[in-house]
Order: sequence, then C-alpha cells, then structure tokens
Amino acid sequence: MPHRADQIRHAEKVCAACGRPFSWRKKWERDWDRVKYCSMACKRWRPTALDLTLERTILGLLASRAGGVAISLDDVVKAAREATDRAVVTGD
Ligand SMILES: [Zn+2]
Repeated sequence: MPHRADQIRHAEKVCAACGRPFSWRKKWERDWDRVKYCSMACKRWRPTALDLTLERTILGLLASRAGGVAISLDDVVKAAREATDRAVVTGD
C-alpha cells in the first residue's frame, strides 16, 4: 500500500478557474489541500456576470430533457460552437 505522501504527490486536481487538470508541485507541499487554482492568473480570475449566466443556462440545459432524452455536456458544447459560428457569419 502506498504511503500517504506518495498519494498526495501523484494527486491531480482540476483548476477552479480554467477547468484544466494540474498536478501536485513541490511549492504546494504544505498547502496542497487548499490549492484550487493551477496558476496565479487563475487565482486572480473571478467569474463575470456572463460566466455565471452561462453556467446557470448550461446547468439548466443539462437538467432538462428534450423528448425524454437527457442533454449531455457534449450536446451543449456542440450547440454553443454552432451558435458561435453562426454569430461570426452573420456578425451578430
Ligand atoms: Zn487554471
């Protein structure tokens, strides 16, 4: 059975700001449990009103069911990409 220190060293977290996974680093040795962000830039980042609106909308979509079929995160991302492409084409 691995030692606790090894488990911590191999742990990965997901950044609370950018959503990317990041790994344990020596500089976080003492406060790894409290580390939430992968970088200083992400630590300073705060969600904007638009971010929070998008988050609520996406969570609402994920919770809803269209024709009895649960909407997946992939569906939401695909729809958002298509909407962005249309906005670029039409200049909206
Ligand atoms: Zn980050």
